[in-house]
Amino acid sequence: MLQDKDRLFLNLHGLQDWRLEGARKRGIWDNTKSLLDLGREKIIETVKESDLRGRGGAGFPTGLKWSFMPKESDGRPAYLVVNADESEPGSCKDREILRNDPHLLIEGCLVAGFAMGANHCLIYIRGEYWQPLVHLEAALEEAREAGLIGPNACGSGWDFDIQVTRGAGAYICGEETAMIESLEGKKGQPRLKPPFPAAMGVYGCPTTVNNVETIAVAPTILRRGAEWWKELGRPKNTGTKIFSISGSVNTPCNVEEEMGIPLKELIEKHAGGVRGGWDNLQAVVPGGSSVPCLPRPICDEVLMDFDSLREVKSGLGTAAVIVIDRSADIIEAINRFSHFYMHESCGQCTPCREGTGWMHRVMSRMVRGEAEIEEIDTLLDVTYQVEGHTICALGDAAAWPIQGLIRHFRPEVEKRIMERKKAQRPAAE
Ligand code: SF4
Repeated sequence: MLQDKDRLFLNLHGLQDWRLEGARKRGIWDNTKSLLDLGREKIIETVKESDLRGRGGAGFPTGLKWSFMPKESDGRPAYLVVNADESEPGSCKDREILRNDPHLLIEGCLVAGFAMGANHCLIYIRGEYWQPLVHLEAALEEAREAGLIGPNACGSGWDFDIQVTRGAGAYICGEETAMIESLEGKKGQPRLKPPFPAAMGVYGCPTTVNNVETIAVAPTILRRGAEWWKELGRPKNTGTKIFSISGSVNTPCNVEEEMGIPLKELIEKHAGGVRGGWDNLQAVVPGGSSVPCLPRPICDEVLMDFDSLREVKSGLGTAAVIVIDRSADIIEAINRFSHFYMHESCGQCTPCREGTGWMHRVMSRMVRGEAEIEEIDTLLDVTYQVEGHTICALGDAAAWPIQGLIRHFRPEVEKRIMERKKAQRPAAE
């Protein structure tokens, strides 16, 4: 269990002052110039050594991502884009960082921007997050007035400017290239890669897109060292993570914990346990709506980190833990996800545009039992035809929950179909 001395998000629940004065008391902006004095290469090297992986869902090594940015400018400016869109159902952590500790993010932006040679940072925030936006804007103003950002930020000689853009609430704008399109004032639709954003991102310039939590932890890693960060969690799954626990638990919450904490411990210690007790657990979606659900026997043992969850054919995603107890209709629950992805598909690629609607329609029939047993395999087959055959990961995100349902709850689906057939038979006779 994470000890208080290793906690980074000291105001996650908003019990302290979120403004500059409160932030300084928590150690934020403490001689930030000395971090920049380390130099670009040393900062990237330290982040690489720490094995920090992106907190936005994909878990890509952060230091490596930063190193993709050009070492020398070819005349184009470089951009850091912070993904504060947080639209994954179940995920509710980034908005709390913005609301309760915005200076943690702003300091991280300066350090990360400097490391990748970006004088400009664009924070893309979901438009509905009004209070987090207000706090972020106020904190930016404080930072500008105090000389922490702006020309000669923190007295480092580095000019650094941050601009905030509000999104209009499309899930797909959380995808990095769709976000870039949206920032450019276009319809938020993912781009084909390559070129990757580090070569050609926003306005055709080198760009790195990082999640809020990823950026927010960077200064502390530099202050306390890569070794300290690596002592937390497990190899290649290092450090701390904010878990958002929701659904059938007694006390839904955001909590910062060590990576690799057992799922059962996470739920029982921090979320007051499953409603009706652990035996009442039916399934857990461990990483936001786009990852496959896990049945109770796996939940008994599994650890909450990227690699452990991949081993059980699920994923850490954004670490949004959605708990489903036995009172819930698991087929209907997964069908809700299907509806969501159908609704949020941007429609550019045929497998996603047509597949998400098709899968949702079949899932809706399965909820009612209005299907043939053989259709379960057809549905599964279609999920594999969508997965990996689209421009962005939304196609995978639509396919994986259904695959998880069929992998672990196939008897439930079959039972539903058989029960309906049985109920219809006497009437027909
Ligand atoms: Fe759009 Fe779906 Fe294709 Fe992504 S996978 S680009 S959301 S149609």
